Amino acid sequence: MKQLRCRECGRLREFEPAYVCEHCFGPLEVAYDLTAVHERISRDSIAGGPPSIWRYHELLPAPIGDPLDLGTGFTPLVHARNLGRVLGLERLYIKNDTLNPTGSFKDRNVAVATNVALTYGFDTLSCSSTGNLAGSVAAHAAMAGLRSLVFIPAGLEPAKVDAASAYGATLVEIDGSYDDVNRLCAELADQYHWAIVNVNLRPFYSEGSKTLAFEVVEQLGWKAPDHIVVPVAAGSLLAKTAKAFQELIGTGLIDQAETRIHAAQAEGCAPVSTAIQRGADRITAVKANSLAKSLAIGNPADGRYAARAVRESGGWGTACREDEIQEGMTLLAETEGILSEPAGGVVIAGLRTLVAEGRIHKHETAVVCITGNGLKTTELFNGHARRLRLTKPRAAEFDLAMAELDKAPALV
Ligand SMILES: *Cc1c(COP(=O)(O)O)cnc(C)c1O
Ligand SMILES: [Zn+2]
Repeated sequence: MKQLRCRECGRLREFEPAYVCEHCFGPLEVAYDLTAVHERISRDSIAGGPPSIWRYHELLPAPIGDPLDLGTGFTPLVHARNLGRVLGLERLYIKNDTLNPTGSFKDRNVAVATNVALTYGFDTLSCSSTGNLAGSVAAHAAMAGLRSLVFIPAGLEPAKVDAASAYGATLVEIDGSYDDVNRLCAELADQYHWAIVNVNLRPFYSEGSKTLAFEVVEQLGWKAPDHIVVPVAAGSLLAKTAKAFQELIGTGLIDQAETRIHAAQAEGCAPVSTAIQRGADRITAVKANSLAKSLAIGNPADGRYAARAVRESGGWGTACREDEIQEGMTLLAETEGILSEPAGGVVIAGLRTLVAEGRIHKHETAVVCITGNGLKTTELFNGHARRLRLTKPRAAEFDLAMAELDKAPALV
């Protein structure tokens, strides 16, 4: 029921841990017999499944049975009334993927890739990472009893690096950009028989990204939203959001999806949004330098597919100013109580632009994907809060400090 299909020449081949087409060297993706899946699943059967990504296991390339599971997915879809009021949107929803086990949506990808790795007997789980993937791979390897070896560019947020090492990973820090790290991993994939989840297991890894859109549609009462705003690094989450809608239609779970898919990037690294804005078919690689380190991929593996998915959906690509990232993070935290890392700030800034440009309207249903937890990047919030410091624990001292504070202008 599951096969691999080349995304360039369309040739089908047997399901196995492969990632490059033998004929044209194009990337492979997983293809399902959607008619057969249609016979086996329904809205009810999914609702009766576990509250995790595994409720959609029929549309995932993982083994049937008891998957290894840290508890990933089925994260809240929050009706963001306060933020919606600020932006003039009545039906704004936040997909809060900061609440995955290691604090980012990458758990969706790694959960699937780890189960495939176990099925095919790999003993080492690895990745090239902009930060979040490293922690997720390390945690899944710990649970699976596999060795983990994660490759990262030097200079990532300390909490991300520390978390990966806490799970027992061997860290390989490289003086260079993520793109350099990724190129090295592509080379190593030929040499070492490891499950480098986003390189040689990429077709399986990427499939995990679909579950975010599956959940959004189910949580909206089996209705696809009018808009979804997706942060873009390598472009897997965005490209697979489009695939998810197609598969929901192909399996008869919904009749239609007219969702406009929007890409959110920051000016310091916006190769996909730039291509979308120019109407270009090819992605021009850039030298990445952004506060949103988790999105800083200058040569995105799935960039072309992401740009195409945006174009075909009628969506747009945003490239926010670097200083808008922090503003977006703060606005989200202060209106909705959701602490996000910079990727979320990029998404909120992108949303503001899409509304300002008249691409998203007041009564439409819009979903924003908040994909990484701000507890990993709290250093960015230092100095923001209104703080009082008492030298002695006395009420009189507090009264004085409070009176001073009341004289100061409000921050927001
Ligand atoms: C990796 C990552 C993304 C983007 O993922 P791609 O699928 O590579 O485009 C978005 N947000 C966060 C927090 C990430 O870690
Ligand atoms: Zn091919």
